[in-house]
Amino acid sequence: MKLYNTPTKKIEEFIPIDDGKVGLYACGFTVYDFTHLGHLRKYTMDDVLIRTLKHEGYDVNFIQNITDVGHLASDEDTGEDKLEKGAKKYGKSVWDVAKEFEDYFFRSMDLMGNLRPDKSTRATEHIEEQLNLVKTLKEKGYTYVIDGDGVYFDTSKFPEYGKMAGLDLKRQQEGARVEKVVGKRNSSDFALWKFEREGENRAMIWESPWSKRSFPGWHVECSAMSMKYLGEQFDIHTGGIDHIPVHHTNEIAQSEAATGKSPFVKYWVHHNFLKVDGTKMSKSLGNFYTIDDVMERGFSPRALRLLFMTAHYQSEMNFTWENLVGMQKSYERLLKIVVDLKKNVLESEKTDEKLVADFDGNLATKFKDKFFTALSENLNTAQALAVLWEVMKSDELSNSEKLSLLLAFDEVFQLDLKQAEQVLEKIKFNKLGDTTGNFSGEMNDLPEEIQQILLDRETARKNNDWGQSDALRDLLLKKGYKVLDSSEGQKLEKLHF
Ligand code: AMP
Ligand code: ZN
Repeated sequence: MKLYNTPTKKIEEFIPIDDGKVGLYACGFTVYDFTHLGHLRKYTMDDVLIRTLKHEGYDVNFIQNITDVGHLASDEDTGEDKLEKGAKKYGKSVWDVAKEFEDYFFRSMDLMGNLRPDKSTRATEHIEEQLNLVKTLKEKGYTYVIDGDGVYFDTSKFPEYGKMAGLDLKRQQEGARVEKVVGKRNSSDFALWKFEREGENRAMIWESPWSKRSFPGWHVECSAMSMKYLGEQFDIHTGGIDHIPVHHTNEIAQSEAATGKSPFVKYWVHHNFLKVDGTKMSKSLGNFYTIDDVMERGFSPRALRLLFMTAHYQSEMNFTWENLVGMQKSYERLLKIVVDLKKNVLESEKTDEKLVADFDGNLATKFKDKFFTALSENLNTAQALAVLWEVMKSDELSNSEKLSLLLAFDEVFQLDLKQAEQVLEKIKFNKLGDTTGNFSGEMNDLPEEIQQILLDRETARKNNDWGQSDALRDLLLKKGYKVLDSSEGQKLEKLHF
């Protein structure tokens, strides 16, 4: 297995610390708002990595955290805690918001076919571990306190600071970046522990040696929890590329300073962004789509998974509905082929079990090697996908070879091919079941937003405002609904692709 390692900027052969075992920590989700397609891409590519490692015979210990406290709105240790922000936005308690979006996260992961972590760790359930890490750093002389603000890590005491990201430490320490926190010795210094500000009245609060009302900084949770479950040094740590200059840079500094061991992590894997209209899809910008948006428009989550496979995890990917339309078609074609192959092979009196095991053709072996080699070469999913299409169309492979190959590929791709019949049935059912007919009869079944557009369009039409009526028709089309005007009023048809 080869992986691009951010600190060395090279594709390296993966050699685990302990033979045959992999300790993998994935930076988890901040549970203050909906999981969107950007997150789905990141965690789906983590899943491809984990499944590829498992395919190669490794025993993977997969730890993923849940950030439910301390992630501030700004990377500069200022701004509101995102959880408190989410609580205000949704008019709920921070604890309810955390629980609901954690559930939503896992539901989204399940729909995408992503493995659950061996251990999912909530920051709020590891306060003691985080406090202990900060105490160790204090004892070793790496910390200082800013009154009324928090305990900070002094980056000038850690000469290796910023090495992975190639940061110009000297410039940072001289305060080249805009200084946002008054009292920081170096602008790259970061908060390990924060104190409640006057009048803040936080819901999530803990006592620490420095303050009765305080809470952990964001970076400290990932060091404390990864080391607790994987040891002071472990194999793989993943996250989005946005984590390179701050979050992961700080994790390395505080972990290595506390343990005196380097490297904290052997391989750093960073995922590039999913964008929408050229901008990063993000919770804070509000330009995001969820898995429910995908399903409401009649797409299968696994067609989205297939779409993610078309791009390398280190490349930016621009999300468009048009691309998903194409992928849904390809996905349905693939499912139909699998159903036909199954029928065909079953007619030749073979059992389901045998199908997966039966595998001896020379050409078939070549295809299998090509697929898994592509994945083991720094997760070249696009190339692996090209092999899948090749197999699907091949005239040279026997039906049983084709089927065996497609099912073998599904070990990593997770396109639900084993259940192809049921998946196709479900897609067919959705297509029939969703046609809404005359909207006046079934208005309540429609999403509120669509109902409102229909009402606005009705008003526009009554006022002979045809420009507005057409604009709203186009808007509905964009949202996946085709409107037809009849003598009985507007009729709506949900589009399927
Ligand atoms: P957060 O919940 O913001 O902490 O993000 C969880 C993970 O998703 C992090 O590793 C982020 O880097 C990653 N992420 C957030 N937005 C995107 C996006 N648009 N594309 C890919 N990854 C993302
Ligand atoms: Zn993290």
